Amino acid sequence: MTVQEGILIVLSGPSGAGKGTICKELLKETDIKYSISATTRKPRKGEKHGREYFFLSKEEFQKKIQEDEFLEWACVYDNYYGTPKSFVEEVLSKGYDCILEIDPQGALKVKKKKPDAVYIFICPPSFNELANRITNRGTEDIQEIKKRLSCAKEEMLSVENYNYVVVNDVVENAVKKIKAIILAEKCRVARNRNLCIK
Ligand code: 5GP
Repeated sequence: MTVQEGILIVLSGPSGAGKGTICKELLKETDIKYSISATTRKPRKGEKHGREYFFLSKEEFQKKIQEDEFLEWACVYDNYYGTPKSFVEEVLSKGYDCILEIDPQGALKVKKKKPDAVYIFICPPSFNELANRITNRGTEDIQEIKKRLSCAKEEMLSVENYNYVVVNDVVENAVKKIKAIILAEKCRVARNRNLCIK
């Protein structure tokens, strides 16, 4: 029996919108597989190689680009970030759904290769709230915060490239909406032609 390929879910939006928190909650409640990205950014306190990210040197990252190991990669806030291709392909081919938590440039690159994926834009309730969240999480210095906020204005305009938008006011509600989106996507005729009685 052939396995029905899983759905690729791309969660994107500006830094501070809450993509990471939403993703964590979603993974607790479902058997969706999370794609761990590679990055040249330095690990933050408490982050572990192979859990939050694969932390690589610039040289290691560039080698992987040359060897075509990424589904997409982008330079985000002066660091490289990329999605390992083999993991995503393997998970999908085994019939599991796979989620990417990536920036809007990366989402656009994936869309060109995988138009059938589900593109969800996570939006903060307001720009002020976004600024509060980035500042209060205390993981970036003031220069980094400014950089992320100035990028956010432009990133918000990219919402037109997505299938769905979820405003992250209350995490629990945002997770509920995303689960509903995935459920509806699973019922699309285009994904179920082989199951219908002819
Ligand atoms: P952070 O440094 O806060 O962990 O992530 C910075 C930004 O990079 C976030 O918007 C995050 O979603 C994005 N990001 C994380 N992994 C990837 C990836 O593999 N590809 C791309 N394009 N962006 C990523």
